[in-house]
Amino acid sequence: MRKLEQLGFDNTFARLPDIFHSRLHPTPLPDPYLVSFNTNAAPLIDLDSAETQRADFAEYFSGNRLLPGCEPLAMLYAGHQFGHYVPQLGDGRAVLLGEIKNSAGEYWDIQLKGAGRTPYSRNGDGRAVLRSSIREYLCSEAMHGLGIPTTRALCIVGSDHRVYRETAETAAVVTRIAPSHVRFGSFEVFFYRGQNQLLAMLADYVIAKHFPPLMDAPDKYSRFLDEVVTRTATLMARWQAVGFSHGVMNTDNMSILGLTFDYGPFGFMENYDPGYICNHSDPAGRYAYNQQPQIGLWNLACLAQALTPVIAMEDAEAALQNYGPAYAKHYTELMGQKLGLAHASKEDDTLINTLLEMMHTSQADYTNLFRGLGNFNSAPGEKNTALRDQFIDRTAFDAWSESYRARLQREQGSDEERKIRMDKVNPKYILRNHLAQTAINKAEQGRDFSEVDRLLKLLQDPFSEQPGMEDYAATPPEWARHITVSCSS
Ligand code: AMP
Ligand code: MG
Repeated sequence: MRKLEQLGFDNTFARLPDIFHSRLHPTPLPDPYLVSFNTNAAPLIDLDSAETQRADFAEYFSGNRLLPGCEPLAMLYAGHQFGHYVPQLGDGRAVLLGEIKNSAGEYWDIQLKGAGRTPYSRNGDGRAVLRSSIREYLCSEAMHGLGIPTTRALCIVGSDHRVYRETAETAAVVTRIAPSHVRFGSFEVFFYRGQNQLLAMLADYVIAKHFPPLMDAPDKYSRFLDEVVTRTATLMARWQAVGFSHGVMNTDNMSILGLTFDYGPFGFMENYDPGYICNHSDPAGRYAYNQQPQIGLWNLACLAQALTPVIAMEDAEAALQNYGPAYAKHYTELMGQKLGLAHASKEDDTLINTLLEMMHTSQADYTNLFRGLGNFNSAPGEKNTALRDQFIDRTAFDAWSESYRARLQREQGSDEERKIRMDKVNPKYILRNHLAQTAINKAEQGRDFSEVDRLLKLLQDPFSEQPGMEDYAATPPEWARHITVSCSS
């Protein structure tokens, strides 16, 4: 493990022509202090966690001091926001310090989010508030704990520096780490400007770095698109299965590697509601929970179009055709696993959908209902009262449990074994809005970051029963009804 001065930077994105980015230094943040450090992520960049003890640690992760070897820059990109093309976005408040090549040979981008204004800031102040930084930090690690591809977070640094959103808040910087920050919009910007050579250069760069087996293929660009289609379809299936809503699925927030990317007004669904909208700034529900799979495809169509200078139209269309089947297959498999079925197929869709419909009518908590389903007793005549009582229509539940029982008979193993399997896919703990809000309130009011650390630890292990933490699995308290989450961050 290394000291801060010894991190092994190898900045490949900075080697691309200047048009790909703007070189700049982060804007200093007054009197930064460490809010939380994620010891689980430190080994990814070979960083010795003991370095957090240094008095100057927060100076580096606020951007006040630069790590030796970094070459800070803001990345250029464009994107479709809520269905409309915006020709120039780019990192308006994030600074990519560089890429660390770790001892295993993996590359990790180190990005400071909230590091001040850049040439792409438009009217923004370049900052991120503590509230949204805590949410991103916790949620990205929660997603990782759930086994869902995502960017990671290393630490949060705070400051008393004031920034203004709906009210005055304080600024923070979250250090995001990811194999790449290239997004669909990174390609769109060159397509819409007609800069086909730059487009091909970016595609070559991404393929060489992230999809090396494709490098020498004659059809490398279309196979690259195939790969992004598959990864995105898989990611959408995983979001749906866990009840995660991203909130702002603009193409600039879509990772080329199929990672969950850019956490803003996200939400985990609590009572099951397919039309769930987590983002207060999206009243029309363009990015509602049940829209996500088709928005994934819509976004891929934007990427495919952007790649048409290097891919034949029919190949682009063929790649997109794979999305629906890939999504459906993966979703059914995941939902089957949630029901304890080793191999679910299309025939199980009725079983799954009927359960979901009953959950909807009964406003059942999505996470807790599935976790509780692990206790289903498949003995004939067994009423499963604890579960049954969670449904309004008990007769419907009885009918459903008969079909479930029949289906389980075709599975191997006992109820006990099934519960063990189910507990590995049905989390006990998710980042409920009220949990995040409690941690935020403590952090904002008394510089008390203990709750952030506690949640981080809890959510990194969401499938285990954690003694003493049962309250964290409870449905939201009354006051949580008033929490609104919007694009303001
Ligand atoms: P987001 O919705 O967070 O993905 O951001 C969309 C675009 O707005 C990106 O180009 C961001 O860099 C930019 N942006 C968001 N907030 C700010 C801010 N406070 N200052 C400058 N740019 C911002
Ligand atoms: Mg974004």
